[in-house]
Amino acid sequence: MSTYTIEGATGAWEVVIGLEVHAQIVSQSKLFSGAPTAFGAEANTQVSLVDAAFPGMLPVLNEECVAQAVRTGLGLNAQINLFSRFDRKNYFYADLPQGYQISQFEHPIVGKGEIEIELADGQMRKIGVTRLHVEQDAGKSIHDQDPELTLIDLNRAGVGLMEIVSEPDMRSPEEAGAYLRKLRQILRYLGTCDGNMEEGSMRADVNVSVRKDGEEYRTRCEVKNVNSIRFVMQAIQAEAQRQVEVWESGGEVQQETRLFDHVRGETRSMRSKENAHDYRYFPDPDLLPLVLDAEWVESLRDHLPELPEPKRARLEAQYGVSRYESGILTTEQAVADFYEVLAKESEPRLAANWMLGDFFAGLNKLSVGIDRSPISAQRLAGLLKLIQDSTINGKIAKEVLEEMFTSEAFASDIVEKRGLKQVTDTGAIEAAITAVLDANPDMLAQYRSGKDKLFGFFVGQVMKAMKGKANPALVNDLLKKILAG
Ligand code: ADP
Ligand code: MG
Repeated sequence: MSTYTIEGATGAWEVVIGLEVHAQIVSQSKLFSGAPTAFGAEANTQVSLVDAAFPGMLPVLNEECVAQAVRTGLGLNAQINLFSRFDRKNYFYADLPQGYQISQFEHPIVGKGEIEIELADGQMRKIGVTRLHVEQDAGKSIHDQDPELTLIDLNRAGVGLMEIVSEPDMRSPEEAGAYLRKLRQILRYLGTCDGNMEEGSMRADVNVSVRKDGEEYRTRCEVKNVNSIRFVMQAIQAEAQRQVEVWESGGEVQQETRLFDHVRGETRSMRSKENAHDYRYFPDPDLLPLVLDAEWVESLRDHLPELPEPKRARLEAQYGVSRYESGILTTEQAVADFYEVLAKESEPRLAANWMLGDFFAGLNKLSVGIDRSPISAQRLAGLLKLIQDSTINGKIAKEVLEEMFTSEAFASDIVEKRGLKQVTDTGAIEAAITAVLDANPDMLAQYRSGKDKLFGFFVGQVMKAMKGKANPALVNDLLKKILAG
């Protein structure tokens, strides 16, 4: 049994989780119409007659949406089905003017695949992907702009979605969180979904059940439309707890659709679970089956970008960064690209230390991501080169970096202007050492009587006397020599 369990009166319960993720496809226009998909436009300005379901309008499949779905399937190491079909899923929603959603039911475009997640202890675990199918999004009902009326915005109606269904392979809120982060990362690398959960372009339906060790799966409940990873994890915890209580009080969990109330931290019943036959699925008579050309699929495969795991392995092999470092360096493609510029222009080890240390700390302070970094990779590389060729030491470099965050100056200009060049002139360093020893006769006596720790004090004093600009290795060497002499 896995380590995450819910403790009940009758012992420990294992939590079983499967996720259905709706990911909005990145494309210029909608799945079956030419209307644009940009987020945030004024209500009902991106609606074609097809999206508004005017009688007699015919859907025309957008090839780019199909390509995006195939790329995603390839990125998930999944089976690409050369034959797939669009079905009508009939239901009534005020923001679904067709009265049905065009989806894929029996023949999805993508079959079985997998996503590898990394757990907190660094262990990797594979989670099965059952399928990916393509479907239309609905519009939006707006309840808070008029005291009496619900308003409808159809801008989102007809936008392409990928529904990515997982196997019930996850066993804890942490695993579900890791799965969603990894999926989002892959989608972003592929450029097939922007993964912005706050804007609703990625949302998850969370299926949860609980069972005793060794049992078959029990009845699940589906918590609909959870829009952040944190809420998904909280919803699992709350729902699993509730189910354990139902079973332990002699009741039976009913399959149903629930909603997560994040303010109260609990799930609430929404409706009893509908079955496929309630939707009266049938092949959409307005659309031909979708038949893909195997060569076209292969050409998409050939043009896939390097994905997070292979990139990680390559960064480790090519630049000698650790597994931990490669994880951070590949969180976003832009971070990895930034690092590779640095690693090529300067020393890779130095580059990793500075990027993950002081540079990221500086970005954090400004609360900006790498895409809005005030320092470009080229400019940061300029600083690293000065450290590498001993023009400045590490301590001075921190000062220079600070100034680079607030100005557009190059490191070399800052060093020049402020006279920060490292002093490697042994005569000057020796003079400073002699002056420090002369000024601290008591300390010197203590050092000579065996208080070795005072060595560090002398180094500090010499560095201070030289305004931090002395070469630290030289100071150490010369000080040792003079004290021994
Ligand atoms: P539906 O289409 O009715 O929602 P599916 O069979 O496609 O049903 O399953 C939906 C999701 O529920 C999948 O992600 C699957 O992994 C998950 N699931 C299935 N059985 C269980 C279970 N017993 N406990 C938790 N999740 C489950
Ligand atoms: Mg479902």
